[in-house]
Amino acid sequence: MITVNHLTKCYGNCIAVDDLSFEIQDGHIYGVLGSSGAGKSTIMNIIAGCLPATKGWVYIDGCDIFNNPMAVRRLIGYFPEHLPLLCMNDTPTEYLQSVGEAKGMKGADLQKQIDSVIELTGIGSVRKRMISTLSKGYKQRVGVAQALLGNPKLIVLDEPTVGLNLIQTIEFHNLIRKLGEMYTILFSSHTFSEVQAVCEQVMLLSKGRLVAFDTPDNLGKLLKESNGIFFRVKAEKAAADALMKEKEFSTVWESTDQGDGTTSVCVKACEDDIRELYCRLFLSFSRNGMSIFEMTTRTIQAGQF
Ligand code: ADP
Ligand code: MG
Repeated sequence: MITVNHLTKCYGNCIAVDDLSFEIQDGHIYGVLGSSGAGKSTIMNIIAGCLPATKGWVYIDGCDIFNNPMAVRRLIGYFPEHLPLLCMNDTPTEYLQSVGEAKGMKGADLQKQIDSVIELTGIGSVRKRMISTLSKGYKQRVGVAQALLGNPKLIVLDEPTVGLNLIQTIEFHNLIRKLGEMYTILFSSHTFSEVQAVCEQVMLLSKGRLVAFDTPDNLGKLLKESNGIFFRVKAEKAAADALMKEKEFSTVWESTDQGDGTTSVCVKACEDDIRELYCRLFLSFSRNGMSIFEMTTRTIQAGQF
């Protein structure tokens, strides 16, 4: 359903999304997992057609979103990180009415859809109260309800559970699971337990790069404390990164420019025996003219990436 090819987004010198490629299929719940600043919102904004990319392509149902923004927008229901402040003085019904009209719906069809999304998201009891007076849990449900208007195929939810208490979060997860039976869902979060609770497949992002795309169970193994290799190489960061990507040593790594013509790289080993990886790294960098100054194994804590 969505194909993302070499997607890159730069804000000035900041590379928020770095050469990202992935595919997602119809009818599943996908998680986008990453710490703050990993690039989750940027990717979701681009897929939802709200932000241009610097490079790369995104196709939704075969349709290039940058060349057909209007056609694609109809396929997507987007709940951004924050509800617009403007809607706070509306009731959910009024807000849904204006969103529906903006999406080109009207009359009886719109009323029917409003009733249906109110029912689905469980906000019937508060539909006539001003949004600003609702609990965060209900506000987030209103955000989901507006995303569902217009019969989209893909629902994009950007960290919808931030700020919810435990009970509200569990209820929200139930809502996402229910929606997952009807829609394809892309859902972002910064906590592993949350994507584990609701998603079938998870993309792990670190500093704008896709470092893993797997089931929550497999990702859990990857995120556990494990062996890693640390080295410092005489090369610019871009050259070290390019070699890391080209040789596909491990999906989980990060690099830091040391500012003296060297780059330090920390690579997570997914296998127990890391000797083979150690040798491959050493040989590849030295054969490509990048001398290694230091190279050690160390334990990488869970969640470091
Ligand atoms: P996340 O949603 O995972 O927290 P974002 O996509 O919001 O990550 O941000 C990714 C990176 O891009 C961060 O380093 C952030 O500071 C930067 N960034 C996001 N939006 C802007 C912007 N409008 N201008 C400049 N930098 C931005
Ligand atoms: Mg974000």
